[in-house]
Amino acid sequence: MTRSRMSSRWLLALAALVLAVLAFPPAAEAKKLNVVTSTTDMAALAQEVGGDKITVEAIAKGYQDPHFVEAKPSFLLKLRNADLLILVGLQLEIGWLPPLITQCGNGRIQVGAPGYLDASQFAQILDVPTGQITRAMGDVHPLGNPHYWLDPNNGRRIARGIAQKLGEMDSADSQYFQQRFQDFDRRLTAAEKTWDAQMAPYHGRKLVAYHTSWSNFARYFGLQIVGYIEPRPGIPPTPGHTLEIIQLMKRDNIKVVVVEPYFDLKTPNSIGSATGAKVLVLLPSVGGEKQVTDYFKLFDYDINLLIQAFKATQ
Ligand SMILES: [Zn+2]
Repeated sequence: MTRSRMSSRWLLALAALVLAVLAFPPAAEAKKLNVVTSTTDMAALAQEVGGDKITVEAIAKGYQDPHFVEAKPSFLLKLRNADLLILVGLQLEIGWLPPLITQCGNGRIQVGAPGYLDASQFAQILDVPTGQITRAMGDVHPLGNPHYWLDPNNGRRIARGIAQKLGEMDSADSQYFQQRFQDFDRRLTAAEKTWDAQMAPYHGRKLVAYHTSWSNFARYFGLQIVGYIEPRPGIPPTPGHTLEIIQLMKRDNIKVVVVEPYFDLKTPNSIGSATGAKVLVLLPSVGGEKQVTDYFKLFDYDINLLIQAFKATQ
């Protein structure tokens, strides 16, 4: 057999394979809506209601700072093939997502297109600034607090909104999505009873946080965040502000500091040793640790850490 005959056989075989794949895509795959989300929390909620009628993938990892995600070429590929993009909005992703959306060349998910879903429209938003906002304030939350998914009521509202949207895009399965939402709603209500009971003894507890990720969480569970290690959201700690926080914590006998996994622990640890407070790495997102694989486990994880710290510092 000559070399050229062999390679032409190979080419024929390859061509046949390509034709077969093009002509007969796997039936189940073909029907699934391809959902891409900016963050893991939106992916977790979409998965709850989308079940096996969707594929879903998040762009940012759960342990990454969602304000600052380094864009990769693979993100463009994900977005190019998406039927639906779900984002947190309120400018959380403003530093990295808008250029990816415009560059991906997918008309279905452009701002205002049917495949573009800003989940903040469904949620109750806290910390909405009043009056004039200036850049000098250095605030990364000019439209209100974008960490709104850390309130189970907002999780429920977002899931309902996603179920509605999926039903509009795939009307044959709209009942399926509604049933998935009803089931999620029931499981969430049951989980809330447990969480509320676990946290009830610590109602009114004061703590200090690194970034304003916990406004919705604290309001839901009746905790008081009395200070932040960042002087303004998005502005790194300064020695003067850190000293103020230490004085405040000593005065009010505050013994718990919570930090997101993507911030440097140097300042939080120095505050901890100056005040005797416990420094906790609390997770703002699904996937922040390997075992936190869904929306329920996120609350389980954070509540467990908080309770241990509250008990230890009674
Ligand atoms: Zn933020």
